[in-house]
Amino acid sequence: MKLSNLIVVKNDKEVTREDIYLADGKFADKYKTDNIISFQDAVAYPSFINVHDHLIGNWLPLAGLNRPYPNSNIWVEDMKNSFSFKERDKYWTNDGSFNLLKGNGLEMAMLGVYKNIFSGITIVQDHIPKQDDRYYESFPIEVIRNYHQVHSITLNNWWGGNSLEKEFSLCNEHTPFIIHLAEGTDKISKSEFAKLKKMIPLRNNILLVHCVAFDRDDFQEIKRNDVNIAWCPESNFYLLDKTLDIYTVIDLQINVSIGTDSTMSGSINLFSELRFIKDRFPDISPRIIFRMVTSNPAKALKLKDYSGKIEKGQQANLLITSIKSNDPYENILGLYSSDIHLMLYQGKPILGLKKYLCHFNVIPEEYYFYTKNGKEYFVIGHPERILAHIEQCLGYKKKFAFLP
Ligand SMILES: [Zn+2]
Repeated sequence: MKLSNLIVVKNDKEVTREDIYLADGKFADKYKTDNIISFQDAVAYPSFINVHDHLIGNWLPLAGLNRPYPNSNIWVEDMKNSFSFKERDKYWTNDGSFNLLKGNGLEMAMLGVYKNIFSGITIVQDHIPKQDDRYYESFPIEVIRNYHQVHSITLNNWWGGNSLEKEFSLCNEHTPFIIHLAEGTDKISKSEFAKLKKMIPLRNNILLVHCVAFDRDDFQEIKRNDVNIAWCPESNFYLLDKTLDIYTVIDLQINVSIGTDSTMSGSINLFSELRFIKDRFPDISPRIIFRMVTSNPAKALKLKDYSGKIEKGQQANLLITSIKSNDPYENILGLYSSDIHLMLYQGKPILGLKKYLCHFNVIPEEYYFYTKNGKEYFVIGHPERILAHIEQCLGYKKKFAFLP
């Protein structure tokens, strides 16, 4: 298959007008083909990676009545008494086991996957205790399976999983070890980095989520040891009224990636997060932000088959959108779901304009079709059935702003 008439953002440096060739779910060399899609006023990107989410936490509205919190541990307790938590319980009951293959757990996670799909994401890290393989095999995009995790230093693995040392010992150098750290502004948050260093060595497979309480010395140590950071600004401002010192992180060239967190504390989706960053941090170059949703998370998550770049031999994970800005990097900071022309995961159509679906060898019943702003779209699977099931459990209508 050939995709033509596109501006192609191959990576953070190269923008071309070359055609894109796809074969066997990968980006391929030029070859002769009659299957050609010609786009109009569109730009192609490597599709985005969400470095931090909690798929089952994507319920609405936001939770937390006592903001700003000195640290997120207090919010976790508050959240359990929130309207959202209790309402979600009527659909998926959080019995504390965090076995998501029970009850409506998998469907709840799928709702979270839709939040990601509708904002250009084909790979997401779901921060939750490790699930059975069947969980990770259930989704139309990649939910990272290769990782070990701990919730946080202070709350440890309250939601299941082993001790911090045990989880870390299960990682080899190619396995990300992921933990919330220093998510707050108080002494407890500030003390967490020192505690972590007493428990495990700093290594380049570690992904620290938040780091709001870090100072420059802490960040220098992070850089020296090639540790990765996940940045969730909307969630941080909502809970703590503060985020990490992003200008220092960028200045030190730390490998930082953007995460949405769940909608109970964070953004509606990644597009919203990107617009928020443009608004709050106008001095960050759009190219740097682009890296934070493509090649940086690919590196942090140790992905083998996708570098977050459009390059031959890599998984054909592609996001094609409208052009709304002269600068294709700046363009990603103003996108909405309805700007997506076509999105592919390993060459398979996930979301896009209905007129493009006939170019692919797919089963129409596997897709949901809908109209937005007068245009017809398709999306993989059936989000409308999930919503209908939720409404049946609740006994009334429910809106999720990230669904079309
Ligand atoms: Zn989180």
